[in-house]
Amino acid sequence: MTAILSIQGVRKTFGGVVANNGISLEVPEGKIVGLIGPNGSGKTTLFNSIVGYHPIDAGSIRFQAREISGLRVPEIARLGLLRTFQQTRIYGRMTCMQNMIISVPQSSDRWRSMFRRVSPAETGKAEDLLKFVGLYAKRQLQAGELSFGQQKLLEFAMALMNEPRMLLLDEPTAGINPTLINGLISRLQRVNREFGITLLVIEHNMRVIMGLAEYVYCLAHGELLAQGAPDAIQNDQRVIDAYLGA
Ligand code: ADP
Repeated sequence: MTAILSIQGVRKTFGGVVANNGISLEVPEGKIVGLIGPNGSGKTTLFNSIVGYHPIDAGSIRFQAREISGLRVPEIARLGLLRTFQQTRIYGRMTCMQNMIISVPQSSDRWRSMFRRVSPAETGKAEDLLKFVGLYAKRQLQAGELSFGQQKLLEFAMALMNEPRMLLLDEPTAGINPTLINGLISRLQRVNREFGITLLVIEHNMRVIMGLAEYVYCLAHGELLAQGAPDAIQNDQRVIDAYLGA
């Protein structure tokens, strides 16, 4: 199976802290893969390294067979690789539609992007995606008026505006009302199956990971601790010990 994302020996330090220590993993094209591990194990750092938020100290990150380490966030986004955040990054004083439109940066200057002309095709795409996440009726509301869970759905739709080939999702269900979680899971599955978007998902909710991912990587102390099918990972004593702080 072809890997859309291939990471070899990634190391990232912050001063004396080794956040990622020689991590290697592969994400096959078209799959949903989970990334788990206790707090501080290096998951967020790895996401940030992949999408170009900071340079890595060593290693290789290949996306669609192209080395992307060293590229900047907008360049990597243009190649079709984006991340979402645990805390959403939307503009609360702008409407949902406006947030959708500015989510596709025309230049690296987001401010300038706000004042460009918007094509009818873009408006149509934004409306379709808001329908997809169930926010169409709220499209003219200020995004800050949405519930936290709805804001996460908006951020998800904003990422889809960029027509990514792959999305890195940082705890998509964190802070979301349990009754909305099933709806979110089925949307993630649809995005994967219908749009063919590969997903790498950081998630603490094991029920979500078990229902969503075909394969799971577990980090601990900045290193890859275990990998495998979700049920094997869930029962792996090393993973259990890592979560219990052993
Ligand atoms: P996780 O996402 O698994 O909770 P992180 O990647 O956020 O883990 O953190 C891994 C380690 O790197 C932690 O020890 C954290 O304190 C450290 N770290 C992360 N980002 C920074 C930073 N910008 N400056 C200093 N230390 C950082």
